[in-house]
Amino acid sequence: MAATTGARDECGVVAVSAPGEEVARLCYYALYALQHRGQESAGIAVSEGARLLVSREMGLVSQAFDEARLAGLPGDRGIGHVRYSTSGTSSWDNAQPAFTVAGSGAGVALAHNGNLTNTEALAGSGGRTRACGTDSQLLATLLAERLDEGGLEAATADVCSEAMGAYSLVALTEDAIVGARDPHGVRPLVVGRLPAGGYVLASETVALDILGAHLIREVAPGEVVTVDRHGLRTRRFASAHPAFCAFEYVYLARPDHVEPAADGSTTSVAAARRRLGQALAEEAPADADLVVPVPDSGTAAAAGYAQASGIPYAEGLVKNRYVGRTFIEPSPSLRQLGVRLKLNPLRDVIAGQRLVVVDDSIVRGNTSRQLMAMLREAGAREIHLRVTSPPIRHPCFYGVDMATPTELIGSGLTIDEIRAFVGADSLAYLPQERLVEATRRPGDALCTACFDGRYPIPIPDEPALAQASLFTDLSPGTSVAAPAPPHVEGSDA
Ligand code: AMP
Repeated sequence: MAATTGARDECGVVAVSAPGEEVARLCYYALYALQHRGQESAGIAVSEGARLLVSREMGLVSQAFDEARLAGLPGDRGIGHVRYSTSGTSSWDNAQPAFTVAGSGAGVALAHNGNLTNTEALAGSGGRTRACGTDSQLLATLLAERLDEGGLEAATADVCSEAMGAYSLVALTEDAIVGARDPHGVRPLVVGRLPAGGYVLASETVALDILGAHLIREVAPGEVVTVDRHGLRTRRFASAHPAFCAFEYVYLARPDHVEPAADGSTTSVAAARRRLGQALAEEAPADADLVVPVPDSGTAAAAGYAQASGIPYAEGLVKNRYVGRTFIEPSPSLRQLGVRLKLNPLRDVIAGQRLVVVDDSIVRGNTSRQLMAMLREAGAREIHLRVTSPPIRHPCFYGVDMATPTELIGSGLTIDEIRAFVGADSLAYLPQERLVEATRRPGDALCTACFDGRYPIPIPDEPALAQASLFTDLSPGTSVAAPAPPHVEGSDA
């Protein structure tokens, strides 16, 4: 479950080239499918051939777009973004797609998932840094500066070869879309083909599914994929050193997202999570009456645990699926509501039972603590908490807002101290090698830095930069409620 006090989600991107189609509508559907990757703001940029139009708004996709707004975005080539800020403040100014204009007057829009680790060096002179609110705005600015020399593909390859960190980006000009992934491929990006011709690039295959597109493959780490009137072509800007984020399998991705496996086959995230649960049952059996998932991210794993252990599976917690990031935070006097806002125990299932509770991860420990208390109040006799990831001990510098090292409960306490803090009768985490095995990717092709501190990409020197990026200080405290500037920007090419 997404916790009010837990770590933060990241972003979702899509790019569509669909000759003759209303692409804004296709981007809208794709963003709807990617909503779980970011609920702070949503945006779409389209090209109608002669100019780009960008529309972005705070809130969910359904709040940001309606019929009228989509109708104001004509064109058959476009990109879209859903945002959860991990760099820069949560404000309209930082919503994506970022937009900028090249010297020739051509427009560039860019949407980005991830975090750069060399923003300062990349920004170069202070003047450019100050003009750019986020990593994404900086990338768009750099693209625009180089666009006139060799077009979007060359500019993207050029900028990507200088950018460091984790990024999956899509960009749009009047006549092309591109998608690119950092050489480690930390964040996901896939490419698919639309039934009537045309292409889609997206963070997860679920965005392809909703458009009826079929998956071609993932964009390779270090690759730029370009779609223009000549069709689709590919170019390398760096050799691949895959280090795909293991936490995508644990929590971030939708269960119906499909990932490639080492043997050339594919695996859904749901199937991987089921394997996580099976492995957990083997590693950490419990004497219990019921296996109860913490919905939604613990659901598939709990089914796997139940299957492997023979203990019956039971839905003991009901989730209100409409509580998301834009949900109004409780006032201090209502703070104790905490996890209750999202989850409600089914007393008739839980009372008097010895439970195995399966959750995906413990970040700060607050969610588990409240959950244990809630289940006890509902009459649980014993609670054996089983977690489908290893302890999170290190912050993420690559686009997942995972709290600072001091807030990470796994970085300071022993397992038994964590157990006592959250109030479980027993607590077990999944060993890292079993997580790796369940992904069906080679261990050296995964980023497991949040578990073992082995960062595949050099991280900023100053630990405080972990979450407070260079840009956070430059764009202080714009609140979500700030009045939004006009919604549509244009560029004349
Ligand atoms: P807590 O331990 O209180 O920080 O909350 C941990 C819970 O938050 C986990 O059970 C996850 O379901 C959820 N979670 C994990 N990672 C993230 C993330 N990056 N963004 C939002 N929620 C997360």
